[in-house]
Amino acid sequence: MTESLVSVGAVNFDVEKIRADFPILHQQVNGQPLVYLDNAATTQKPNVVIDAISDYYRTDNSNVHRGAHALADRATVKFEAAREKVAAFLNAASAKQIIWTRGTTESINLVAASWGKANLQQGDRILVSAMEHHSNIVPWQLVAQATGATVEPIPVDSNGSINISAFENMLDAKVKMVSVGHVSNALGTINPVEKIIGLAHAVGARVLIDGAQAVSHWNVDVQKLDCDFYVFSAHKLFGPTGLGVLYGKLDLLNAMPPYQGGGEMIETVAFSGTTYNQLPYKFEAGTPDIAGVIGFGAAIDYLNAMDRVAASAHEQALLEYAEEKARSTSGLKLVGAATHKASVMSFLLEGAHPADVGVLLDKQGVAVRTGNHCAQPIMDQFGIPGTVRASFSFYNTFDEVDRLFAAIEKAKTFLL
Ligand code: PMP
Repeated sequence: MTESLVSVGAVNFDVEKIRADFPILHQQVNGQPLVYLDNAATTQKPNVVIDAISDYYRTDNSNVHRGAHALADRATVKFEAAREKVAAFLNAASAKQIIWTRGTTESINLVAASWGKANLQQGDRILVSAMEHHSNIVPWQLVAQATGATVEPIPVDSNGSINISAFENMLDAKVKMVSVGHVSNALGTINPVEKIIGLAHAVGARVLIDGAQAVSHWNVDVQKLDCDFYVFSAHKLFGPTGLGVLYGKLDLLNAMPPYQGGGEMIETVAFSGTTYNQLPYKFEAGTPDIAGVIGFGAAIDYLNAMDRVAASAHEQALLEYAEEKARSTSGLKLVGAATHKASVMSFLLEGAHPADVGVLLDKQGVAVRTGNHCAQPIMDQFGIPGTVRASFSFYNTFDEVDRLFAAIEKAKTFLL
């Protein structure tokens, strides 16, 4: 273990104290202490989140917004308080701009279906980067098929960075939507989204930022970014699965038609015609994931109580330490070498299939992800079937990075 790096990366950051908050980390897997390096797939949950969910079911369980009794009031107050917390977390001007969805995927589908069908027509262009997650490609393809618009990839260079001059050359008045990830889940690239938003707005296009891999690493300010939509999943931000957020500009959300019909999203229903509820409820048909929302509120409180700048510095130091080790590991090739990266180290072992590497690491208690990371187009561009991906969170340690590389060395003895 490299003490000097620990002190560089973790000034004022007590990683052992943080780890004590995450019960799942303290277990053995295949006879070894678990090293969880699959944080880009989902992050682990602190006790406060687990407790908030179980307390809700033990004491407050009720439907929200409709009951005329104490439990319904308590559930509604906690549910709406979580919305306020998310609005403040993103520096959104109003909690009305925070729509609960099932996740990043549903948030993008909502915008593509609702905004897209109302605003796109034959010949319009939608630009997404070539390194997007499938959930930021396929919903646009669906709406393109329905409207006659096209979906075009913004070129990505061999180091994994968006080619900004190629992007500038693509822009014209036909471009109506630019949808890009803040951070690539496959390569870790931090995209220059402020620049992209400014350039897109200059030709009148709207911009959606997929923040699934960004919000867990630093504080995002949607007003400063000036994005039109910002989306992410609670489960990658220390909250529960099955819950996501769509932030949108108020005028756009107000003008958009409903996404799904049902209870909660209406004002009045008659066979002669139905009127819709106000924001945010217009987009929240049916009983929501109340326990999940309340648990997510606890995750936001947890993050707000943390020194996030120190946490981010610690994660960055872990990534740099790992990549330095990777560069001196024979047979290991890093995939994705953008100048600005967050918490993702994608790699290949020469002569070995990523899936086999993953199995051998798991046998040693090290959890990573292997495959195309739902980003098949960029893997195709690089001519590879996928990668092995180690992704870090603030509760990871330098010892765990050492364990990863010891496990890689052992895997090599079986594979190469
Ligand atoms: N976008 C990115 C960048 C992601 O990393 C992910 C999850 N891997 C998604 C979208 C989809 O998120 P979810 O499955 O939670 O909807």
